[in-house]
Amino acid sequence: MCEELIDKLCKNACLSAQEYLFLIQNRQSCSESLYAAARRVRDGVYGRKVYIRGLIEISSFCRNDCLYCGIRRSNKAAQRYRLDENEIFAAAEKGYSLGLRTFVLQGGEDAYYTDERLCNIIRRIKGEFPGCAVTLSLGERQRESYERLRAAGADRYLLRHETANPAHYSRLHPPRMSFENRLRCLESLKSLGYQTGAGFMVGSPFQTEEMLARELPFLKRLEPQMVGIGPFVPHCETPFAAYAQGSAELTLFMLALTRLTLPDVLLPATTALSTVDGNGRIDGMNAGANVVMPNLTPPKQRKKFSLYNGKAGSGAEAAENLAELKAQLKAAGYEADLGRGDHILRNHQG
Ligand code: SAM
Repeated sequence: MCEELIDKLCKNACLSAQEYLFLIQNRQSCSESLYAAARRVRDGVYGRKVYIRGLIEISSFCRNDCLYCGIRRSNKAAQRYRLDENEIFAAAEKGYSLGLRTFVLQGGEDAYYTDERLCNIIRRIKGEFPGCAVTLSLGERQRESYERLRAAGADRYLLRHETANPAHYSRLHPPRMSFENRLRCLESLKSLGYQTGAGFMVGSPFQTEEMLARELPFLKRLEPQMVGIGPFVPHCETPFAAYAQGSAELTLFMLALTRLTLPDVLLPATTALSTVDGNGRIDGMNAGANVVMPNLTPPKQRKKFSLYNGKAGSGAEAAENLAELKAQLKAAGYEADLGRGDHILRNHQG
């Protein structure tokens, strides 16, 4: 039955939520054939190239209070920092000299980053480093703001929906946040021409296998160009400190289902996956992923972007150690590609 469903998924790139649930519940017996199918599909679209992005964590200040997140506003023990325009530019410059051609600017929702400041930094990076892509991951903003940032040259935007179940969403977030607004933001980003990334945590508190199964038809309808999937990892200064971390094995299974559901998707093996599975990057590739995002944040600030305990940050997680990452990928049969690495259906816009 599992093999038939995997075949059907390969042919139609979609199953019903019930069918996804069956696979998730029976994953022990079919994970190897699911991963093999995900690799075949990924290789058919992107080959064995793995796109490398430089991740710049620009601020640990956040106005939000997501219950799972270590940089939530209520965490008085969090160490706060923000990078100014020159520091962000210097990090991108370092990445450029390492050969990287995509910079991901990620941060808490920090009011310091007005549209004007962000537009200046985007224009400066795009002006000085023509041919590079800028990805933003700065949370929920007004449509007009996304529009200005796009006009300044931002190419992509990552905004995980966190869970496709609105009731679950409201148990993970404070009352002022809503699933509806998250979706509205994602729809705005798509309609403004961003390569748009959604995504969710695996094993977040109150999540069930039924909810996970429903993530896939949800993604199929949304059709994002990128999907970020990582295990929930608890942070000791949050209300979810005592909850168990999500499993690497279930995260890998969800990566493979996502690859088969959205064959063209850009799919990272996330830092959270590396945090719970020391071989997470390669295991992720072997389950159908094709992106990694080593850290380019100035080393003295890196520990302060503490979303969860034990966040991986050394070795091949650090952009300084690109040679180690390239060698790891090569040994596993992959080829690091430092280029822009756009979604396959997107024309290069420079
Ligand atoms: N503020 C922006 C946003 O909300 O999109 C970007 C930064 S936010 C910290 C990036 C992602 O980190 C979130 O989408 C969430 O899925 C993930 N994250 C936060 N806390 C986490 C935790 N405890 N375990 C795993 N992932 C977590």
